[in-house]
Amino acid sequence: MNDCLFCKIAAGDILSSKVYEDELVVAFHDIHPLRPVHILVIPRKHIASLAHVSAADEPVLGRLLSVAQKLAAENGSADGFRCIVNTGRIGGQEVPHLHVHILGGTKPVGPMVERN
Ligand code: AMP
Ligand code: ZN
Repeated sequence: MNDCLFCKIAAGDILSSKVYEDELVVAFHDIHPLRPVHILVIPRKHIASLAHVSAADEPVLGRLLSVAQKLAAENGSADGFRCIVNTGRIGGQEVPHLHVHILGGTKPVGPMVERN
């Protein structure tokens, strides 16, 4: 049906280290963590990127962020965290299924992006 890696993770067809799931979203540890806390939150529905959402997706977009703050606090980043949504070629998106990176830990995440 669909060859998308994150759709397969959401469906449980590919193993991941899931930390949360509900009817709209699934969250799991990033396989190559860049910080002590590095969790991905994705919609169950296949949405290729933030450039592909419509107004009908607003409930799931809201859920992605409300779950992100809960998961950050519960997984070792209670003093703050950073959410990143890489989008398309310019945004450096590698997996074409919308995902929110939650990055954190006990030390500051660091500069937002390198200065050009
Ligand atoms: P992006 O560059 O924003 O598309 O990020 C994709 C992220 O997915 C990267 O941080 C990868 O480490 C992560 N990733 C790729 N494959 C898997 C997987 N099977 N399980 C968990 N995370 C993955
Ligand atoms: Zn997908």
